[in-house]
Amino acid sequence: MILAVASGKGGTGKTTLSVNLARVLGSGVRLFDCDVEEPNCHLFLRGTTREAETVAIPVPHVDESLCDGCGECGRFCEYHAIVSFGTKPLVFPEMCHGCGGCAKVCPKKAIREVDKRVGVVETLQAENITLIQGRLDVGVAMAPPLIRAVKARLRNGVPAILDAPPGTSCPVVATLRGADFVVLVTEPTPFGLHDLKLAVGTVRELRIPFGVVVNRVGIGDERVHAFCGREDIPILLEIPDDRRIAEAYSKGNLIVEALPEYRGLFQSLIEKTMSLKNAGGV
Ligand code: SF4
Ligand code: SF4
Repeated sequence: MILAVASGKGGTGKTTLSVNLARVLGSGVRLFDCDVEEPNCHLFLRGTTREAETVAIPVPHVDESLCDGCGECGRFCEYHAIVSFGTKPLVFPEMCHGCGGCAKVCPKKAIREVDKRVGVVETLQAENITLIQGRLDVGVAMAPPLIRAVKARLRNGVPAILDAPPGTSCPVVATLRGADFVVLVTEPTPFGLHDLKLAVGTVRELRIPFGVVVNRVGIGDERVHAFCGREDIPILLEIPDDRRIAEAYSKGNLIVEALPEYRGLFQSLIEKTMSLKNAGGV
């Protein structure tokens, strides 16, 4: 089963949930930190790096001696990463998605592809958890290709947890695609509700079964619960606003280890997601 953990905004406890679920799932689980702009699962699972592989995408390089300035490449590129004004085209590699389309449409075969490094995929071993994390290079804005490289390490039949980037943009969609179930983490506040609604819209569009975890229950109000009730969205877990959890977090400790009485809650979340997924989801 591939379980993705996402949230409409950062700071809701998404990574906390991911690392604790991984620890509860235990032996053989693979945890994928897809928040490639700021991977932080490793702060809680101190492991040793087994592998580090650089990831590159193919970007166009124009041979000016062959180009006649026809502009076909620029008209094709929907990302405006290659632009021609009746002249030899300008290439903006930082905007290129590496789709290869411009090279295919060039009638003069003037475009060849060259590799542009975007980041690295690291594999760490933290006791019985394999952590795979992407790390985007500084100044690189194109997260989805690196996220896809991280997810290329998914293994058939091996349980996996995907820690998604915050928000609802392309990197989140790249993470969630192919997941069997999505857990949306939120807080019971007006901001939490606002971002939860956006996240719900995204997972519904992707047609992936999902449920909600409400973190820091005790702050805010009841509007998140009311929304989930109206929308028939299961609340899978409620994590109380417990000062001891914040303390464990600030020290980089796992809740299920610092506060073993919470272990059962995380275990029950896994069981609920499995049964909802098997029942065909929400
Ligand atoms: S490879 Fe694709 S995204 Fe990149 S410049 Fe060419 S058409 Fe645009
Ligand atoms: S499509 Fe080829 S020939 Fe036409 S402008 Fe682009 S690189 Fe030059």
